[in-house]
Amino acid sequence: MADQPLISIVVPCYNEQANLRPFYDAMQRVIKPLPYAFEFVFVDDGSADKTKKVLASLARKDEAVRPVELVRNFGKEIAVTAGLHQARGDAAIILDADLQHPPELIPEFLDKWQRLSEVVVGVRLPTKHHTSWLKRLASKWFYRIMGAISDVAIVPNATDYRLLDRLVIDEFNRFTERNRMTRGLIDWLGFRHAYVYFEPAKRLNGAPAYSYRKLLRLAIQSFISLSLFPLKLAGYLGLIITIVSLPLGIFIYIEKYIMSDPMRLHITGTATLGVVLLFLVGIILVCLGLMALYVANIYGEVVNRPLYVVRRERRF
Ligand code: UDP
Ligand code: MG
Repeated sequence: MADQPLISIVVPCYNEQANLRPFYDAMQRVIKPLPYAFEFVFVDDGSADKTKKVLASLARKDEAVRPVELVRNFGKEIAVTAGLHQARGDAAIILDADLQHPPELIPEFLDKWQRLSEVVVGVRLPTKHHTSWLKRLASKWFYRIMGAISDVAIVPNATDYRLLDRLVIDEFNRFTERNRMTRGLIDWLGFRHAYVYFEPAKRLNGAPAYSYRKLLRLAIQSFISLSLFPLKLAGYLGLIITIVSLPLGIFIYIEKYIMSDPMRLHITGTATLGVVLLFLVGIILVCLGLMALYVANIYGEVVNRPLYVVRRERRF
């Protein structure tokens, strides 16, 4: 037993009380015949339900279960990061607690790992039932835009269901940014990738914790943290406007004031001014908004807060 490779199963959990036992049982069925040792790093991401209790009772029965409790909800990306920091395995497999990432694929992940892939990525096949049409549409466009503007290649429908070799985990643990998209960072690292395809199941119990608002925030975050395009966009807009508005202004000036309106355009001064002002104010606001996003991002990184806080036992 001793010299078997150790595999860390990293699971972010936010209000998953009803799913944890079925998840754990399904995992046991899958890993029992495999020639590896396993540990379970369950990260309780500040759940408000009985997740903590269920994890504690699993840990009492099985010493391979290591719960990590965050003091509040930090979001899935950070929860996964905390789990990877805690993982001791020669490889780690990250998957959701709600059984949407089928544990039956784990032998396939490990097989690809044995064949020297350093990152194995679960790729979702298209299905109809797993999410609403709005989420699917949004996700399609997210990958389109991301693919077009990002500096790293992003595979559409690649999920967070992933195996990482120890080499990758150690490199991943060097990232310090607070606003992060785990997938994007892993892809940024490079390494030898392999893919496993699967059809996601329906969420077992409870509602997905990722609301539209959170997803939108994650998407915007990914755009600005993995690409400088929006920042450049402000510049391009400014450039185009200067190039267009300068000759237009000169044209109006010459046509109306120097040549006394030979083309009979009857442009009033106030109207011209109004339109130009409105237009420019709009542009300035757009640019300011973009700048604010970046400044907020820089601020978040610069204050250098800890990524997360783990709850320890009180002494008194
Ligand atoms: N999750 C988390 N913190 C959060 C939100 C979600 O740790 O703030 C976990 C959740 O428990 C689950 C995984 O992330 O294991 C995926 O969440 P969910 O099923 O809600 O998202 P979806 O399936 O829609 O991507
Ligand atoms: Mg889910």
